[in-house]
Amino acid sequence: MAWFRRSKASITHDAQRKDMPDGLWTKCDGCGEIIHRMQLEQHLFTCPKCNYHFRIGSKEYIQILLDEKSFKELDKKMRSTDPLEFTDTKRYRDRIRDTMAKTGLNDAVRTGMGKIDGQDVVLACMDFSFIGGSMGSVVGEKVARAAVAARKEKAALIILSSSGGARMMEGALSLMQLAKTSARLAQLDSAGIPFFSILTDPTTGGVTASYAMLGDFNIAEPGALIGFAGPRVIKQTIGKDLPPGFQRSEFQLDHGFVDCVVHRKELRETISRLIRLTAA
Ligand SMILES: [Zn+2]
Repeated sequence: MAWFRRSKASITHDAQRKDMPDGLWTKCDGCGEIIHRMQLEQHLFTCPKCNYHFRIGSKEYIQILLDEKSFKELDKKMRSTDPLEFTDTKRYRDRIRDTMAKTGLNDAVRTGMGKIDGQDVVLACMDFSFIGGSMGSVVGEKVARAAVAARKEKAALIILSSSGGARMMEGALSLMQLAKTSARLAQLDSAGIPFFSILTDPTTGGVTASYAMLGDFNIAEPGALIGFAGPRVIKQTIGKDLPPGFQRSEFQLDHGFVDCVVHRKELRETISRLIRLTAA
């Protein structure tokens, strides 16, 4: 009775299409709830039913975290070159150009000065939509410069990570960013300036292996994947099933890798309070 099943499927499909005009409704990946765009925005892109945190970009995080219109971007025009003349499925320089056109961003991190409740901060905020939030020379340099700016201005540093790790197309140059960013953060630490690391879904690879885990406070959003190698690779390597919730924020909190798990709605207030506490 294949014809019957086919017609049933098409009815369901038409009904969904009727209720979901393009871009206005989103299905929650956590619980399947259909949520209107406006409701999603009101809840800072978290599900009102199950608290699932949708992936968002630097534009949204800057609005959520900083005082209105306080963000002044640094190194806005810094762009990747293609030092290795790398080609995979397409030329790296073409990939950069196409991604810039598609996302309106120049690379996978935006940095700048801003304020939270009137307190000066330097924010570096990553964008997963730019080649998987991968860290190449531009991301490393901008993060390192953000740390330098925080030291100079004696302002707290906040780095919000969302990344698959080092950028393969820049080979060893990407790996050098781990040492550079970590060294700048060590200088910031010596100067007694606090650094808040916010870990969002996903924070993995070279970013976890450098600045994301070096915060004076490592603050994770609920349900974020946080780790070095991903669960699939680990499972293949050890040949065993992994425990439930492996590498998610709550699991990492239980195992001492993050200091707290904070709902996106409480991020701003939490950081504001921590800045006041550390300044005292
Ligand atoms: Zn949900």
